[in-house]
Amino acid sequence: MKEFPKILLIYTGGTIGMVQDYATGQLKAFDFGKLLEQIPELYQLDCEIETISFPNPIDSSDMNTGHWKLLVDLIGKHYNSYSGFVILHGSDTMSYTASALSFLLENLSKPIIFTGSQLPIGDLRTDAKENLITSVQIAALNLEGRPVVQEVCLYFENKLYRANRTTKMSAEQFQAFDSPNYPTLGISGVHLRIKEEYLWRSESHKKLRPHTDLDNRIGLLKLFPGIHPSWVHGLLGNPEMKALVLESYGAGNASTESWFIEELQKAVDRGLHIVNVTQCPGGSVLMGKYATSAALAEMGIIDGKDITTEAALTKLMYMLGRDVSSKSFKTIFETSLRGEMT
Ligand code: ASP
Repeated sequence: MKEFPKILLIYTGGTIGMVQDYATGQLKAFDFGKLLEQIPELYQLDCEIETISFPNPIDSSDMNTGHWKLLVDLIGKHYNSYSGFVILHGSDTMSYTASALSFLLENLSKPIIFTGSQLPIGDLRTDAKENLITSVQIAALNLEGRPVVQEVCLYFENKLYRANRTTKMSAEQFQAFDSPNYPTLGISGVHLRIKEEYLWRSESHKKLRPHTDLDNRIGLLKLFPGIHPSWVHGLLGNPEMKALVLESYGAGNASTESWFIEELQKAVDRGLHIVNVTQCPGGSVLMGKYATSAALAEMGIIDGKDITTEAALTKLMYMLGRDVSSKSFKTIFETSLRGEMT
């Protein structure tokens, strides 16, 4: 008898499983059992689906590193028993969680597909059904018994993306995500087309190593013209902070005013790891291209290249959690670990 791939569907919360409370008009999470009742089509797929739900499903705005550890533990525990995993997650912070998992699951060689929806599953015009059904299909794809996808992906509105390249772009379009700096990995139309040439393949054939140590003593500073020196001083001077993502302008440019350069220099001197990423949705930092980024390059600020802010923040938490030495921190950050930068 033919054996079907086994898929574990993990429900964390989000709009996909929400119902409207008619008394207040607010959306609230509902019982996961009912989610599957809403999509009997799932049982027609050529795979076996088992489900687990967070005990208390959450709106993804409440996601934190504790939930990420829970997901890593769940996947670690069930890794050998399933061919692939689909994680239902609110779209608001999906790119953060999915990026974090891409780092935390070292040597991953099975598909983990994140999906969700803009409209609740019970809504007449819902985008949830297609997102969920196709995600399960992608997680179940295999070629001679080996999974086609072997990385953490995000599937939304007909497109499959490398998760750590994505950003939520729209709070209302069904096309909520984009991957500005890396091609889509697949498109679902009449046919489900996976672009194998863009898929990630881990070079090592080692066993999965799930990591759960994350250090969130990190910060994010988005520059804007006219930023007040005391805000920058307050943030960079925080002795608890271990690393900072600096969202600069364009190709990695920042103010050359002396107070700003001095604050950065002081922070670097005391050992703060600063990563330069661009606040543009697409394109790359090119440190030293303009005079306005030359000083940053000289003081040893890390080049974030074309990494997203979501991936930069979660990569920092992962690397700090692994106690990467100060000496090799810059080199390791500037190296692509999971296909997160070019
Ligand atoms: N607020 C919701 C969440 O992120 C939105 C969604 O699910 O799309 O949980």
